[in-house]
Amino acid sequence: MAAGDYVYGIHTGERESDMKSRILVIEDNEQNLYLVKFILEKNGYEVCEARDGREGIEMAEKIKPDLILLDIQLPVMDGYAVARTLRTKPDLATVPIVAVTSYAMAGDREKTIAAGCNGYIEKPINPDTFMQQVEQQLCLRADGGEGK
Ligand code: MN
Repeated sequence: MAAGDYVYGIHTGERESDMKSRILVIEDNEQNLYLVKFILEKNGYEVCEARDGREGIEMAEKIKPDLILLDIQLPVMDGYAVARTLRTKPDLATVPIVAVTSYAMAGDREKTIAAGCNGYIEKPINPDTFMQQVEQQLCLRADGGEGK
């Protein structure tokens, strides 16, 4: 060990360069939240969580996430209301919102898009394709694209 190395040093400046995007997960189901968090953290993302709609909005305002994963069936405020509210806030108007929901009826995708979401991932989550779907939305933003 070279002089000047600190045995007890924690995160000696590596964090900034390694830092990946921050993702807010708004989800009230513990199992889904656990799975999503596990996959995202394994891929190096910083994950923040909220368990109901209002908490989700407060958290989004506080942490300014790079992407929001939004469950639709939520206590206090449903995901549609959350998306519509986020879109009225100048700071958050362009953050990508991806609905993650088991609502798979015809017209549900359109409803989430109309509420302001950029994308839609169906539950149950497929761990093999989930990251790809999330990163696609992050890339659209990084390219300055509007998404669809
Ligand atoms: Mn739910």
